Amino acid sequence: MNAAAQAKLAQAKARLDTLDLYPRPVRMRRVRLVSAPWLFRLPWFRRFHGYTMWDLILVRAPVAEAGDDLVTHELCHVWQMQHHPVAMPLSYVYRGYRDNPNEVQARQAAETTRALPRFGLCDSCRHQRLVRTARGSVFTMCLRAKTDASFPKYPRVPVTACRGHEPRS
Ligand code: SF4
Repeated sequence: MNAAAQAKLAQAKARLDTLDLYPRPVRMRRVRLVSAPWLFRLPWFRRFHGYTMWDLILVRAPVAEAGDDLVTHELCHVWQMQHHPVAMPLSYVYRGYRDNPNEVQARQAAETTRALPRFGLCDSCRHQRLVRTARGSVFTMCLRAKTDASFPKYPRVPVTACRGHEPRS
């Protein structure tokens, strides 16, 4: 998977990690993001810009141009599948597409996490965990603080320099 796909998936995961829709965060080990414009030329797929098959997310546009909201929406479907591998796909048989609870949840996940505050270097760091309060405020937490007291748990933002910064993979 190329760097653009990895970056797109990383930002989508960071957004979903601020939500508590399921007991466990979305697992990324087997998730792939691939551009497949040919698929979206087929009659049944023409209405979609993205489509998820288990851990494979297919998008109509080149990966680098895929919308962040779209990737977040599709990654939410991956998350749903990880927790309801049978009920989730079956729901499309008896609930249809538009008002399917999984679609509603994925749309809300993208909307809720859109336009997060910017926290500087932390936004590209693999040690960042975004924390969302019940009132909707979002804070950046540094996971390094758990093992190294020299890192503040909640750094002053925007962070412009940090010796602990490591890019997301
Ligand atoms: S290591 Fe530095 S850049 Fe990374 S999350 Fe912590 S404070 Fe932010």
